[in-house]
Amino acid sequence: MSPARIIILAILLYLLYRLLFGKKTTSSRPGVGGQLEKDEHNVLVEDPVCHTYVVQGQSLSAVKDGKTYYFCCEECRRKFLEQN
Ligand SMILES: [Zn+2]
Repeated sequence: MSPARIIILAILLYLLYRLLFGKKTTSSRPGVGGQLEKDEHNVLVEDPVCHTYVVQGQSLSAVKDGKTYYFCCEECRRKFLEQN
């Protein structure tokens, strides 16, 4: 084997190593970010009308006086907004 081919082989091995190493780091970064985002949507919030706990991501929301409130159903949301 000529020295040039050994160098090319070494570069290819280095690139392969970088590719495998790069995959590990890029897959872990969005994984952490995605996990945090998922947790935010899974937060339990109290319905101020019927006082049941609902998952934030699956609840109805309404903004009143700059604060966001979450409701289990449209009826609770409507009752809350009808209150002064
Ligand atoms: Zn409710």
